[in-house]
Formats: sequence, structure tokens, C-alpha cells
Amino acid sequence: MASTFSVTVLGSGGPFADKHRVSSGYLLSIRGKPRMLVDCGGGTFERIGQAGLDLSGLEQVLLTHLHIDHTSDLPAVIMHLYMSDRGRALTVTGPRGRPGNTDAPENAAPQLGVSEFVRLLFGVEGAWRYMNTFDGFAINATDVASVASGAVVQSVHVDPALIAEGISIDACGVPHGMMPTLAFRINYRGRSVVFSGDTSGATPALLALASQCSMLVHDFALPEREVPSGKLHAKPSVVGWIANESGTKSLLLSHFMPAIEPELDTAVDIVRRAYTGKIELAEDLSTYEVG
Ligand SMILES: [Zn+2]
Ligand SMILES: [Zn+2]
Repeated sequence: MASTFSVTVLGSGGPFADKHRVSSGYLLSIRGKPRMLVDCGGGTFERIGQAGLDLSGLEQVLLTHLHIDHTSDLPAVIMHLYMSDRGRALTVTGPRGRPGNTDAPENAAPQLGVSEFVRLLFGVEGAWRYMNTFDGFAINATDVASVASGAVVQSVHVDPALIAEGISIDACGVPHGMMPTLAFRINYRGRSVVFSGDTSGATPALLALASQCSMLVHDFALPEREVPSGKLHAKPSVVGWIANESGTKSLLLSHFMPAIEPELDTAVDIVRRAYTGKIELAEDLSTYEVG
């Protein structure tokens, strides 16, 4: 059966250099052609090249948050696009900044939003300002409210070429320490894939966003036991609870950090206690059909 709507995992790892997993990134394809990119961490650019993926139809990049392991290859992808005679704007969507976060007193500094991030990188006074000399270079950056409390699910601006394909996108803020972070739901003709982003836990908004989705791609960074950075990522028992409560048809676990790798079987067993649906473990360069 020809692929209709699929997710190719570019990077299933966390922020550490690893032989098998690069940092976070997922390409979404419609009828086999990549159209959207969710996150763009270190190594994803090389994975795109390894797989021979064609980016000529890429219209929108969704950034769950601005941690380096989700964004650092974005300039490389943008350079590739505009060296390939793109000649039209790229839509980049991500979280709105916020003035500070008292939930994370150890690092509560104000954080910037995606439009400011793009301006600092590619604006006329940005680090890579020279990109503005390329014909047709433009990045349409959109900030999406990233408050992680409450039950608010918002619809997100979608690139017109993707609207024409039948794509709609929703988002909500999720808790991730000091960092404004979004979860996204991408809907395509009755199918839907949800990316949890990095999240430390469940919220009513995340459950509403993921309700009855076809596939939930969930942060699965750390084991159940206490480990460093344990406050930033959901534990396996919480991931299982979210999967079960949301009613997702399938669960794709990803963003594995070294602390969970040797204990993955145990961690997945904990998820299975709460969730009886299909569970897959993301592998770099594997493609998963959403349906
Ligand atoms: Zn991360
Ligand atoms: Zn993160």
C-alpha cells in the first residue's frame, strides 16, 4: 500500500552524541513527499542527506521548543533550501516567549519566542544576515501561546500550500521546566499525529490535544527511577497514563536519553500496565504510517 501520511524519524535521541540516535527531528510526508518538519536537532540534517529525502516540498517547520537538541540544525536545513533555488518563504512555527517561570526557580530567566529566535539568527541584523541576499529568502515565523496550565488547545497558522492539501494543526503549551514548549497535533484527512514535545507530565490540554489521535509520538527520555533532569521529562508511568487517557490508536516512543537505553524493556513494561494499544520504539530513519 502506498504511504498516505507518514512520519520519518530523523532523530530519536536526546542531547547526547550517540552512535545510533541523533537529536530530535521528524519529517511528515504526504503521499511520500516531505511537507513538514517537526523539530530539527543536531544530526537531523545529516539524516536527511543519508536518507536521500527531497525537501523541495517542505513548507512548514514546527518547533516544539528552543532547546538546542530540537533546533540546532535549523540553519543547515534553511541554507539547503535556499541553495536549492527555493524562491519562496518558509513558515516556522513555535512557542511564544515568556517573562520568566517561577516553576523553575533554578533557571527562571525570561525565554524568547520563535519569531525573536528567527530574527536573531536570520534578521537583517542577525547572525546569518547574509541569507537575506538569497532570492526569495523569507521566513514567516509565528509564535503560539505556550502557557502550560489550563486546558487551552489552539489552532495554529498553517502554510497555504498545506491548507490546500487538507492539513490543519492544533497546539497547546506543555510543562518543560523553564522552557516555553508546545505539543502539536497535525490532522490530515481523518488521520492525526500528535507530538508531545518535551513534557514533564500530563495536562488537561495535552489530553484534549491528543484525544483519539491516530498516533502519539511521546517524549520517553528517562526511566521511572530518580535521575538527573528527571523534572523535565515524563516518567514511563505518566506516559502510559497519557496514552491510555487520550485514547490514541498507537504510541511511538522517542527522545531516548542514555539513562533509559539499558532499561528500555522495563520502562516499556511500565507503559503497558496503563496502555494496551500498539507501542513502537522510534528508530532513526524509520518511517511510520499514520493511520
Ligand atoms: Zn529534548
Ligand atoms: Zn527540551
